[in-house]
Amino acid sequence: MGKTQTIRGFSDIIDNADVWQAVEGILASISHNYGYKEIRTPLLEASGLFERSIGITSDIVHKEMYSFEDKNEQTISLRPEGTASVVRACIEHSLLYDRPRKLYYQGPMFRRERPQRGRLRQFHQFGMECLGYDEPYADIEQLIIINRIWKTLGVAEKISLELNYLGSQCTRQAYGKALKNFYQKHYDKLSELDKKRWETNTLRLLDSKEAHLIEINREAPIISDFYTDDEKEKFTIIQTQCHNNGIKAKVNQRLMRGLDYYTGLIYEWKSDELGAQSTVCGGGRYDLLFESLGAKAIGACGFSIGIERLLEILKPQSIQKDTMRVDFLAPSQNDLPVMLELAEIAREQLPDVAFYTQLDQGKIGNLIKKASKQGATAVIICGEEERKKRMYTFKHLQTGEQSTLTMEQLTKLIKDMT
Ligand code: ATP
Ligand code: MG
Repeated sequence: MGKTQTIRGFSDIIDNADVWQAVEGILASISHNYGYKEIRTPLLEASGLFERSIGITSDIVHKEMYSFEDKNEQTISLRPEGTASVVRACIEHSLLYDRPRKLYYQGPMFRRERPQRGRLRQFHQFGMECLGYDEPYADIEQLIIINRIWKTLGVAEKISLELNYLGSQCTRQAYGKALKNFYQKHYDKLSELDKKRWETNTLRLLDSKEAHLIEINREAPIISDFYTDDEKEKFTIIQTQCHNNGIKAKVNQRLMRGLDYYTGLIYEWKSDELGAQSTVCGGGRYDLLFESLGAKAIGACGFSIGIERLLEILKPQSIQKDTMRVDFLAPSQNDLPVMLELAEIAREQLPDVAFYTQLDQGKIGNLIKKASKQGATAVIICGEEERKKRMYTFKHLQTGEQSTLTMEQLTKLIKDMT
């Protein structure tokens, strides 16, 4: 048997797990700031949940889901996104019977797409769902939150917002019909896949990235011609509020989202630094979703951020606290017990410093070299001499300064360094 390795489109997070932790921590803390509570749903759900919510004709359900038959003959799927599960949980546990909820989630999602830059088969999303509030102020607040996230992470200058407004189901349907007629005139020029889309999911043809369709789309009807007065007003309010909150937004009437459940406002935040897969965050309103899962209609909106794409444009230095690392060195086996005890005392007194115990022995010069290579700022040597005198050698690896101190003096010195 050959070497075992990760499967295509799946990856290990190794060297930058600390950056992941910092980002996840910041996202959780911003969520709490806005009163959002975390929800954790299972990674596996009945396939029917995604078929009924995301839609059978969507790319995700149609060809990207990891689905298989369980031993009890139920078909189950690895979750391709988070919203369907959150809504399922709200319905299942009657979470909205007495009040609206603001919930967030983060974790892995699975889609069997062609792996490439910005596209993995297991990727991670952070998402927020505002459930039980009608448009437009819930939507506007979420745009404000996302803007706050970009600012906190230091990426605001690299990301821009595109908005579109789908209106009610009625408007969307009338527009879909007009589009269908329009593309019928160009039917011969459509690819086989686009012909299928024309039949089942016409709106998706609008945001095609293929050159010949982009050309055709220039002439396509636009949705704003189908808005009611009320819809026009709501979309105007959203744009005005973006402006008033310092959010630069561009209206893109060809913007569509890959999932069937959107109505009202939809949007994407994109970055030029990401190549072809430029969308970092997508979101919008989904007032039809509760009903399509068999519950009473409820107004709701949400968004999700692709963490891998976000990390590609983020500078780790702008979010990470510098943690100082100090290594304890024990030249011989006999020094190990004292070293472990001392390290505990140090950690208790200086919780913000990383104390690393080198557990293998050797010549002190080699141990120091090893510590330096691994990124230690200083070392504390607890050899036999030191143990006897209860005075330990402290060596600063950058300045080379060295002193012999009691544990009390040592912790004070390190504290002054941080
Ligand atoms: P795209 O147009 O890039 O396929 P999508 O509309 O399928 O995006 P959503 O379902 O809205 O994406 O997911 C929200 C975000 O999750 C995306 O904007 C992106 O940042 C991220 N994302 C989606 N699919 C993947 C993937 N296969 N690998 C990495 N990130 C992804
Ligand atoms: Mg996709």
